[in-house]
Amino acid sequence: MPTVHNLGYPRIGPRRELKQQLEQFWRGDLDEQTLFENTSELRASRWRDQADAGLDLIPVNDFSLYDHMLDMSQLLGVIPPRFAGQKDSGLDLYFRMARGDADQPACEMTKWFDTNYHYLVPEFEPDQEFRILSDKLFDEVAAAQAAGHRVKPVLVGPVSYLYLGKGRNGASRLELLDRLLPVYADILDRLAGMGVDWVQLDEPCLALDLESEWQQAYRTAYQAFGDVSVNILLANYFAGFGDNLDLVKQLPVAGVHVDVTHAPQEVEQLMRDWPADRVLSLGVIDGRNIWRANLVQLLDELEPLQQQLGERLWLAPSCSLLHVPIDRDNEIDLDDEIRSWLAFARQKLDELALLKTALEQGRRGISIAARDDVAAHAARAASKRVHRADVERRMESITSKMTNRVSDFSERSRAQVKALGLPLMPTTTIGSFPQTQEIRKARADFRHGRSDEKTYRDAMQAEIRNVIERQDALGLDVLVHGEPERNDMVEYFGEQLEGMLATRNGWVQSYGSRCVKPPVIFGDVHRPQAMTTDWINYAQSLTQRPVKGMLTGPVTILQWSFVRDDQPRSETCKQIAMAIRDEVADLEADGIKVIQVDEPALREGLPLKQAEQGAYLDWAVESFRLATAGVADDTQIHTHMCYAEFEDILAAITAMDADVITLENARSNGELLQAFENFSYPNAIGPGVWDIHSPRTVPLQEMIELLEKTLKVVPADRLWANPDCGLKTRGWDEIETNLENLVAAAKQLRQKLLTRDQNTGTH
Ligand code: GLN
Ligand code: ZN
Repeated sequence: MPTVHNLGYPRIGPRRELKQQLEQFWRGDLDEQTLFENTSELRASRWRDQADAGLDLIPVNDFSLYDHMLDMSQLLGVIPPRFAGQKDSGLDLYFRMARGDADQPACEMTKWFDTNYHYLVPEFEPDQEFRILSDKLFDEVAAAQAAGHRVKPVLVGPVSYLYLGKGRNGASRLELLDRLLPVYADILDRLAGMGVDWVQLDEPCLALDLESEWQQAYRTAYQAFGDVSVNILLANYFAGFGDNLDLVKQLPVAGVHVDVTHAPQEVEQLMRDWPADRVLSLGVIDGRNIWRANLVQLLDELEPLQQQLGERLWLAPSCSLLHVPIDRDNEIDLDDEIRSWLAFARQKLDELALLKTALEQGRRGISIAARDDVAAHAARAASKRVHRADVERRMESITSKMTNRVSDFSERSRAQVKALGLPLMPTTTIGSFPQTQEIRKARADFRHGRSDEKTYRDAMQAEIRNVIERQDALGLDVLVHGEPERNDMVEYFGEQLEGMLATRNGWVQSYGSRCVKPPVIFGDVHRPQAMTTDWINYAQSLTQRPVKGMLTGPVTILQWSFVRDDQPRSETCKQIAMAIRDEVADLEADGIKVIQVDEPALREGLPLKQAEQGAYLDWAVESFRLATAGVADDTQIHTHMCYAEFEDILAAITAMDADVITLENARSNGELLQAFENFSYPNAIGPGVWDIHSPRTVPLQEMIELLEKTLKVVPADRLWANPDCGLKTRGWDEIETNLENLVAAAKQLRQKLLTRDQNTGTH
């Protein structure tokens, strides 16, 4: 009979209990002991849920108070020197590394592969030592054992741990491997001493294209564990092994986990000459998406494999269930039909248990569930809510002409200068202004029927008036309405587009206590009516200056949603693009002359394997162009992206052909500008001059310097002055000062350029 297990379970709790506990503790409303007790109970309830669902092995140490990579750094004693040497409890140090403090910036945070989860980047020094520093892992194992569970501790493996970190002061990560391995071996032995028989070592870097040194590091590492006395399950996920497959076959481990949802073709390759004593764990249940599995189809595939593997066949979700919401049955607003198409973490465990039963007892053992399953899949495949003839016809009518602006940038920009009358280096912001307690309350009251539409509308309009007046007074050139009506830049559109739905409790951890609630794209996407024009038109009616229409781009809506699995992502993206295109057209028809279509998620959608990146960028760019290219020359299209790692996609960013792109730049201290030294971006660009993630006021002089530095790589007539990102999380005081400085910096530089031009003119 097969073993069913899980790679990891959501940490946040069905009611986001972890968030509440953490935030109370950080506010000082909870002491360490209570935090520990309450979160231990949350941890234990997750074990119980998984055991009740029928899992044979329960993952332990996947729970974390902030992040599993930070847990690894604490376990291995990797504490950056700026935090070391202060006497405080482990928990203090832990949260200071996670969140920074008055004196020290936090550890850098970055995206966990191609997910929307963020991990804390380990920092290594050249003389880095490793030692077991924290007991968290062992305490958790002991607690789970005491509760009667058969545990499988989960650790990030040594090679991925090093790979995902950063060497400081010239430290080479690869050179640290030899020092790190003995500590891992000690940990494994200590776990063996506790009676643990299986340990899961996560090595998701095996999903990347690896240089040969890193492949060699895998050989070195896993040969070094040859005589530890636990069984190692080497787990890879988010993509197939690709070119690392032969390497993986050679590693002396007791078992390998493969992400079958991403790389079904690799199962056959692995099965060829699979050693007779090795476990193969098949990640057949999609850990990244929320669709019900197709049990009957899976059984067709699994039955022959079981014949060959027998007891050595293990079944699991493709990756940790960290990336899906916890329980579909908490979705009381969903109608029964759509609910029956979905499976959240809890339901995915049930699916595993059903597969196990069917493989043990034959399919008759699950005949009722199997009948339901077939019916739900048939209903979804035939549903008119999923497939709409009007949308399909529209998709067929797309022509390449629709993805091209009428004229090229130089001609457009002349028309826009005339239409908008903007100065050199125009000033603007990225979209949002503070989402105060009152604004949130006004939205929540309306949503829950505690206030009527007029009250809500008045509150939002009052806020729009407030931000327009403030921007007018500050003298910004292109204004925004402030986005008070939006809870979230994707959910807002998800709620209004047909074919998409917002869940009530479908929270997923983004980092630490932060959670997001991705909408579900279940069917053909269609825009029944305008989504933003009322608010934007109202804002524009209050000022002579241009107000930006503000939309979220198709790639970002796709990337930050759960996406249907019955058609290619590119197709779904194009449908969203058409809906946004219609919104752009409505804004333009209403006289809005500047329209911003945000694409902050475009970069993170990049596939992990280089070979797949080109095709992705092609359709992503195409979708953006489809959404934006329908406007006249004198309508100015802006786009915005946050993260700093654009270097490798500059060609794609250029191909988007937005008139203006605003990018994060101040946070990375102008690093971005280097990229533009070697690559001349042809359209206008606004590299941020204010790091909005920091509460610090940027002195006028510093903004001027950053703009001057920028002027060396971007000509003045194609440069904009703006912050790094939206101002949703900042307070008004700091916003006023920083924007005053921004406007003043642009004015001074304009003056300087003008004088210089006049001088050169007379000589
Ligand atoms: N327009 C959005 C805002 O200002 C953009 C947010 C983002 O880039 N993530 O909030
Ligand atoms: Zn941003």
